[in-house]
Amino acid sequence: MPRPTISAADAEEFDRLLAATPTGGEIAYDHAQPKWIFLRYLVEQGYLLHGSNEPGIEEFRTRPQRDAHGNPISCRATTRRGTPCRREPLGEDGYCPSHQHLAETEDAELVAA
Ligand SMILES: [Zn+2]
Repeated sequence: MPRPTISAADAEEFDRLLAATPTGGEIAYDHAQPKWIFLRYLVEQGYLLHGSNEPGIEEFRTRPQRDAHGNPISCRATTRRGTPCRREPLGEDGYCPSHQHLAETEDAELVAA
């Protein structure tokens, strides 16, 4: 999906909407643009979004990620003992903090090949 084009006028209106919303308040969205474009704008401004039907969430915490089948996702590396690393990956490269160096050398090997 292509990125939506957010005009300067839209950005100005989105900023006005944010400024008019008290901290923790509900945004009275009244803009002509679809809400998802506003949400996209918020993400680009550094906001973290969440979607839930549970309005009473007071604290957000990280939790182990699972794949589409409910299996825990673990680091892609193999330990010195030859067993799969069971730590949680840090980011998109799929390596835990201890194995981040492998992501860097992985790119180098692709270039060399
Ligand atoms: Zn690891």
